[in-house]
Amino acid sequence: MKKNSKNSYRFCQRCGYPTNDKNYIPGTLKNNENSEKYCSRCLEKGEFRHPEMNRQEMLIMIIDISLNNSWWVGKVMKILFPKQIKKMEYWKDDNTPLNKNFSREEASSNREKYFDYYKFYEGDDC
Ligand SMILES: [Zn+2]
Repeated sequence: MKKNSKNSYRFCQRCGYPTNDKNYIPGTLKNNENSEKYCSRCLEKGEFRHPEMNRQEMLIMIIDISLNNSWWVGKVMKILFPKQIKKMEYWKDDNTPLNKNFSREEASSNREKYFDYYKFYEGDDC
């Protein structure tokens, strides 16, 4: 256990949501304590949402949502997110190849598969 109570992670270690964002809500552990590493979209009472998801699917989700918000944000995320995801703790043992230039078909089947996850991030641009 870390002793400092301040959140020492700048981003959710699964989806990259910035912990200093005003809409950031920490995820919860089994004992209902706040997680230091994961946001509420990713972790609820110690359970990860869609534990079957791999890092490429996460990358598609985050870039796709960013592109839908604005092409500019999407462009930035296409550069940043592939680098960022490689440093996240949750994905450290996941070696799924990353491809930021996924097709529209891949994006829409990913959206169907993880529809409930997507909806946590949408309508969120601030
Ligand atoms: Zn998250």
